[in-house]
Amino acid sequence: MTCRRCEKQTIYKYYESDFHNIYKCKSCDYEEIIKIDDCCRNPNKIIVNDPNFFPNFRLYEQCINCGGTKRNFPLKHTKDIEIRDEFNVDTFNTWRKNISFDKKIIYEYVQEANYLSSPRGKYHAYLNSDEWKKKEKLFLLGININVNNVNPKQPFTFII
Ligand SMILES: [Zn+2]
Ligand SMILES: [Zn+2]
Repeated sequence: MTCRRCEKQTIYKYYESDFHNIYKCKSCDYEEIIKIDDCCRNPNKIIVNDPNFFPNFRLYEQCINCGGTKRNFPLKHTKDIEIRDEFNVDTFNTWRKNISFDKKIIYEYVQEANYLSSPRGKYHAYLNSDEWKKKEKLFLLGININVNNVNPKQPFTFII
């Protein structure tokens, strides 16, 4: 995996949420959210039939722990297939909501972290630092003295 920001291959798994892995770059601290391949951390799948397709069969593998399924990839109906239940649309919808909620929560933190580790964020943090404030004060003081010496009545406009 390559870092999107610095393009180095220095990515490691930083932490895990219910449905996502969060990776971080050792070189530049960039963070990235990747959804896990499976439906959840503890998959337990059974074969279910979607009754909306009656009289035909429409079979999915649905997880009884999270409700997740790949609806776009129905299974083939064969004689020896064991249909255990009907497709549960309620748990399926809950599963989808849980994934987007999970992502929403992490996304805010990751966005903030990525901003703080970006050159722009570091610059803004520097502007808020005591070190910068001291430097700025001295600098402005120096300019004022200089300006006052040249033309004390002229207002001075300082542009960053
Ligand atoms: Zn990086
Ligand atoms: Zn699951």
